[in-house]
Amino acid sequence: MNRLKVTIDRKSGFCFGVINATKLAEEVLARGETLYCLGDLVHNSAEIIRMRKLGLVTIDRQMFESLKNVTVLFRAHGEPPLSYEIAKKNNITVIDATCPVVLKLQQRVRESAALSAKNGGTVVLFGKRGHAEVEGLLGQTKNSAIVVSNKDEIKEKKFDGNVILFSQTTMGKEAYDDVAKEINSRLDSAHSLKKINSICGQVSRRIPAVIELALANDVVIFVSGKKSSNGKMLYDKCLSVNSLSYFVSEPSELQTEWFTNAVSVGICGATSTPVWQLEEMAEAVKSLNL
Ligand code: SF4
Repeated sequence: MNRLKVTIDRKSGFCFGVINATKLAEEVLARGETLYCLGDLVHNSAEIIRMRKLGLVTIDRQMFESLKNVTVLFRAHGEPPLSYEIAKKNNITVIDATCPVVLKLQQRVRESAALSAKNGGTVVLFGKRGHAEVEGLLGQTKNSAIVVSNKDEIKEKKFDGNVILFSQTTMGKEAYDDVAKEINSRLDSAHSLKKINSICGQVSRRIPAVIELALANDVVIFVSGKKSSNGKMLYDKCLSVNSLSYFVSEPSELQTEWFTNAVSVGICGATSTPVWQLEEMAEAVKSLNL
């Protein structure tokens, strides 16, 4: 009999932005319509496979530009203005699942970029270069913003005038503060840094929950797609307080030796990890021959 007590973090699971995007896609597919999604709906392969079985067709940017008279879902990460222009030109119906938090951020970034262009300042986006949300934000600035993914990159950058610093919604607050500190140290006394902490509460509120879970259990199984930014960040939080924290994307990755001497196991995940996958992982842990 398996001796482990397995607890799922009830604060884990999709954030509301991803729930909304998934619901919109499911509604269209349930009507039997063809629906394309520009990029992966979520950074989670298991969920992508589930949506593919429902009929969702994931396309890349090149294919998007070649399609005409179809329906395309813009996912929660948001899109740059160019995507809307292409959709209009090609008579594409857009199902816009951009998360309201991202939409608001896009607006603030757009306004700040316009102000900086007028006053000779700089907009800095702290985030992962190439990440869909960052590309969407960069588009709001007509690609004028500087993207940095860590404080070390600041040394290579040159800032004009006052700086306005934003963050991708799923980055960590400590790393954001490090970047702000580094920028501040590079500015002369005539110029200032305005910090706009745009990290999403859906992510930051999970930090204490996963830390609590990691402290309360012998082993932590963190379930997430490898491409998830907040998955990486939240997993690092678990690891910082419990060295027996393991990052897994599917049950087949579980290794029995992780649970030697363990009595309790906590299961948690990223904002792109569905609850069904956490439950599946819990069952897989319980069915290990321990
Ligand atoms: S993490 Fe926050 S900003 Fe990103 S999709 Fe989820 S709710 Fe929206």
